[in-house]
Amino acid sequence: MSDKTSAPAGGLKTVIVGAGMAGILAAIKLKQRGEDFVVLEKAARIGGTWRENRYPGLTCDVPAHAYTYSFEPYAEWPAYYAKGPEIQAYFEMVTDKYGIRPHIRFNAEVTALDWDEAASQWTVRVAGGDAIVADVVVAASGVLHHPKLPDIAGLDSFAGTKVHSAQWREDTPIDGKRVGLIGNGSTGVQILTAINKRVDKLVHFQRSPQWIMPVPYFTYSDEERAAFRADPSLIDAIRYNDEYLGAIKRFTDGITDIDGPQMAEIEEYCRLNLENSVRDPALREKLRPNYRAACKRLIYSWCYYEEVQHPAVFVETGRIERIEPAGVRMVDGTFHELDTLILATGFHADRFIRPAGVTGTGGQTLDAAWAVRPTAYYAVTVPGFPNFIMLNGPTGPVGNFSLIDIAEMQWAYAEQLLDLLRQRKARAFAPTAEAHAHYEERRIAAAKKTIFGSGCTSWYLDATGVPASWPWSYDAFVDAMKAPVLEDYALSA
Ligand code: NAP
Repeated sequence: MSDKTSAPAGGLKTVIVGAGMAGILAAIKLKQRGEDFVVLEKAARIGGTWRENRYPGLTCDVPAHAYTYSFEPYAEWPAYYAKGPEIQAYFEMVTDKYGIRPHIRFNAEVTALDWDEAASQWTVRVAGGDAIVADVVVAASGVLHHPKLPDIAGLDSFAGTKVHSAQWREDTPIDGKRVGLIGNGSTGVQILTAINKRVDKLVHFQRSPQWIMPVPYFTYSDEERAAFRADPSLIDAIRYNDEYLGAIKRFTDGITDIDGPQMAEIEEYCRLNLENSVRDPALREKLRPNYRAACKRLIYSWCYYEEVQHPAVFVETGRIERIEPAGVRMVDGTFHELDTLILATGFHADRFIRPAGVTGTGGQTLDAAWAVRPTAYYAVTVPGFPNFIMLNGPTGPVGNFSLIDIAEMQWAYAEQLLDLLRQRKARAFAPTAEAHAHYEERRIAAAKKTIFGSGCTSWYLDATGVPASWPWSYDAFVDAMKAPVLEDYALSA
C-alpha cells in the first residue's frame, strides 16, 4: 500500500531521519517556524545513542551542563558527568516540552530515499511500503550505531553469554561470574569501572593500551541544583568557562598543531596520570601506550586507573588466538575460562544513513559517491544530493566535546540554505562537485597532519587511513558554520 503524501502548496515539507539528539534538534527548530515535517524513527523510542547504549557505567564524558541543547539548559543533573539514563530522560523531557512526540513516526525504518529531479523532491520509503514525498531530507541518523563484532576465530562458538556493549541485556551474568571484556576504548573503560567489584574475575583483553586524561568528578547538592534553577547564568558559567570550552579550544589547537605546546601539555597530563596512579610497575608498563596521546579518541576518566588495579581485574595484553566454547585461548596457549564475554569493540563508523539506499541526481547512489570514503561538503551537504542535510555527518569535528553543539552549528548553517527554498530563490541546493573536491583536497591534506593521523589505529580513520574528521580548530568550524559560501552551491530554479 502506498500512502503518498505530497508537499503542501506554499510550504516546505521536511523528513527528518532519526529521533536522536540531532533529529529532535531539527524537529524543534522546524516546529518553531511552524513548518511541516515528520521524524521517522526506526525504533520505538527516541534517544538514538542514549536509547541504544545501556551498558553498566555508561556515562557521557562531556560535563553534563555542556551536554544539553544551548536553548534548554538543565538544572537537575545529579553530577558533573551525567549517566546514560539521565541523558535519555533529558531528551524525553525536551521532546515533550517542545511538543515533538506527535511529529515522530516510531518503528518507521527508512529504507530508500530517491531524488526526483523534475519535481525537486525526495521520495522517502519506509519499511512496510509507505512513501512520503518531501522537499528536504535531514539525515540525523547518528554515527556510532552499527555494532562492530571483532574478527576473532570461534566467536560464535562461545557457550556462555556473549554481548556487544551496544546491545546490552539486563540479564547479562556479571555478579560473581568470570567475565571477559574485549576492547578498552571509552566504552570498555567505562564498563570495567562499573563491574570490577561485582565479578569473580574480570579479564580485560587489551589489544592496544590507551592514554587516560584525568578529569574531576563530583556530585551536585540539592542546594546547588536550586541555585542553577534560580540563576541559569551559573549553568552558562560551567558550559562556557575556560575549564570546558577553553579546554576544547586548546584541545583542537593541539590536534592541529601536534608539536605545539597544547599537545605537549595534554601528553604530560596523561603521562603523569599513568606514572602517579598505577602502583605496580609491571601493570604500569602494560598500560603505557606507544603512540601519541589523543591519536585515538582520548579517554577521560576519573577512576579507570584506580579500578583497573582492583584484585579481580587481570589485564591480558597477549594476542587472542581464538574463542572456544569455554573461554578465550591466547596465542601463547594461556586459556581464560569465562562465563560471560563482553564485546566493547566499537562500531562501523562509516555507515551514517546507510543501509538506506540514497539516490540523488542522475541516478547516482550515495554508496557510489562514497566508494572511497563517506564525505560531505563542510560535513553538512553532499554534491549530487540536493536538499539533503546531514547532521553529525561524515568528517565533522570529533573529540572530547559535545556533538550537540556541533549539530546546532550545522543546523544554523543549513537553515540559511533552507531560506533559499523558503524565499523561493531556488527549488534545490547542493554543493558543486568542484567546490567539494577542492574542500576535500584541503581537508585531507590537513587531516593527515593532525594528531589522529600520527600513527595509531582508531575509528577516526577512514578505509584509506586518512582521519575522517574536521582537521582544523574548533573556532574555524564555528566560523565556517556562520554562513554557507553560496558561490559553492548549485541552485536550481
Ligand atoms: P572504540 O573506541 O572503537 O574501541 C574499540 C576497542 O575494541 C578498542 O580497544 C579496540 O582495540 C578493541 N578491538 C576491536 N576489535 C578487536 C579485536 N578483534 N581484538 C581485540 N580488540 C579489539 O569503541 P568504543 O569504546 O565503543 O567507543 C567508540 C566511541 O564511542 C568513542 O570513541 C566515543 O566517541 C564514543 N563513546 C563516548 C563515550 C562518552 O563518554 N562520551 C562513551 C563511550 C563511547 P584497538 O584499540 O587495538 O583497535
